[in-house]
Amino acid sequence: MSGPLDLSGKTALVTGANTGLGQGIAVALAKAGANIAAVGRSAMDETATLCTEHGTRFLAIRADLSSTAPIEGVAAEAEAAFGRVDILVNNAGIIRRADAVDFSEADWDAVMDTNLKSAFFLTQAFGRRMLADGRGGKVINIASLLSFQGGIRIPAYTASKSGLAGITRLLACEWAARGVNVNAIAPGYFVTNNTQALREDPERSAAILSRIPAGRWGDPADIGGGAVFLASAASDYVNGVVLPVDGGWLAR
Ligand code: NAP
Repeated sequence: MSGPLDLSGKTALVTGANTGLGQGIAVALAKAGANIAAVGRSAMDETATLCTEHGTRFLAIRADLSSTAPIEGVAAEAEAAFGRVDILVNNAGIIRRADAVDFSEADWDAVMDTNLKSAFFLTQAFGRRMLADGRGGKVINIASLLSFQGGIRIPAYTASKSGLAGITRLLACEWAARGVNVNAIAPGYFVTNNTQALREDPERSAAILSRIPAGRWGDPADIGGGAVFLASAASDYVNGVVLPVDGGWLAR
């Protein structure tokens, strides 16, 4: 690949890359030429195979991002292997479902810690490095339709993804002039572990499908194009956007 979407010589660190959207993003970035540092708490073997097919390098880093404790270690491991991380994708996330009247403090903390707190402090760690060496970089946060809408039975998830959209805009304002682009992708309804409960509920599943203008749920491969764009020179003057990749859901 050549041209403004070419990522040859770049290194992308993708959290939660063992499955689902994180895997789809890692594969798309590798296909565009990037080396991949895949961070998560599960084995990355399948993603490693899919990425290295494209001839780029791959490193799996074990880390549980339910706390900020592993962040400096993750950065050190990635830098030891690749020298520098040019692209950070904050994808790891969890969802807990319960009516707002029953939602527990433990579930609130678990969701906020992984989806928002760790994403912010990971971005801080890599952002500091990108700013310090003056070579800039790209940060892509995986937000949600719940960055725009309320949803039901997922109060902490909605708070975390609305917060992530806000943090995306704040960081874009602070860092845009210094060569670090911070943007987000808001996936619609994709077939991954995250939406298994919805897809197993025939009523919810049918209601969701009937509202998607594209007429189908998203496949993890559908997320890659937006990620490559936001990781590449093609988006150098794009800052603080939350890009929906949703089959038209928000246009409805
Ligand atoms: P998924 O298959 O459940 O993937 C979530 C990923 O996050 C997995 O790799 C998971 O690792 C990782 N993760 C969770 N907690 C972690 C922790 N404490 N430390 C490290 N990694 C952790 O669901 P997905 O749909 O691909 O989700 C990816 C992102 O997209 C999430 O931020 C989600 O909120 C967002 N999203 C998804 C949809 C959708 O329709 N699917 C829509 C909007 C936004 P394990 O496999 O080890 O648990």
